[in-house]
Parts: sequence; structure tokens; C-alpha cells
Amino acid sequence: MKSETAENYTKPGEPFENGDQKKIGYCGNHCDYCFYPECPGCRSNNPFCSYATLFDDHKCPNVTCCNGKGIEGCWQCGDLENCSVGFFSSGENDAKAYALFIKKYGKEKYTETIVNLQKKGYNYSKSFKEINNVEQIYSIFEKSLRQEL
Ligand code: SF4
Ligand code: SF4
Repeated sequence: MKSETAENYTKPGEPFENGDQKKIGYCGNHCDYCFYPECPGCRSNNPFCSYATLFDDHKCPNVTCCNGKGIEGCWQCGDLENCSVGFFSSGENDAKAYALFIKKYGKEKYTETIVNLQKKGYNYSKSFKEINNVEQIYSIFEKSLRQEL
């Protein structure tokens, strides 16, 4: 198990043995930078996200909901701001901020901003889970993007 430092948490696009990357989870959590590297991500054929495993069928409600709507992720949903489905009512308030950030700035800027925040000493996602406030986390990402941090 890797230790939790910003430095060795940075593993952008680290490929799986089959060459795939984990990508961004449906809720906005970036599976490439997750603290749980053993999980192949919720877009893999064998996901075991620690949240999804709370459900008997191992199907996270956010994944099911996005698939039902035929969208790539919650950032493409018009109900995102007020949504309390699945992980958005888990008590962990970071993913909603990430999805809102992707909605406004796109996936590429989201990934770039994670890398930049890691360079500034933030530990994705641990630092943001500790903040646990959608507005504050969103603001940190936006300030980093604008180089105001
Ligand atoms: S909480 Fe659900 S949507 Fe988010 S990463 Fe885990 S399985 Fe994917
Ligand atoms: S309703 Fe909620 S869980 Fe479903 S796609 Fe929209 S934001 Fe995601």
C-alpha cells in the first residue's frame, strides 16, 4: 500500500495491465487519483468502489442513474446542483464539487487542476474529504484554475 503523500499519489493516467485507464467516475470522483488504487474504477468491468460495495448488487446508484439517462457522468445532468442520489447523500461532499467543476470547465481542466493542486500540497481526494463542503472545494479548484492559490 502506498503512503498518502501528495507526491506519490500523483499517478496521472497510470494504465492498467490491459492498457485501460480508470478515468473519471460517474459521480465526479477521479478514479485515476483515488486513494484506493486496487479498485479498477466504476467504468471497469469489475468495479469495487468502496461506496458501491455498500449495495448488495455492488451497483452504485449514481452509476445506475447516469446509465439510465444515457449520460457520461453526473456533470451532464440538469439536476446535479440539487441531486441527493447515492454518493451525493453519503456524507462525503467532495464528488458533487468535482462534478460541478467538470460541468463548468470540462474533464481536462478537472484533471489538470487535480495535478496542480497536488503540486501545491493538496492530497486528492483526502484533503477535500476533510474539507467536506461543496462550495469550499469548488472554490479551491476554481482558484487553482485561475492561479489565485
Ligand atoms: S461513488 Fe459511485 S459513481 Fe462515484 S466513483 Fe464510486 S461507484 Fe463510481
Ligand atoms: S439525478 Fe443525480 S445521480 Fe442521477 S445523473 Fe443526475 S446528478 Fe447524477
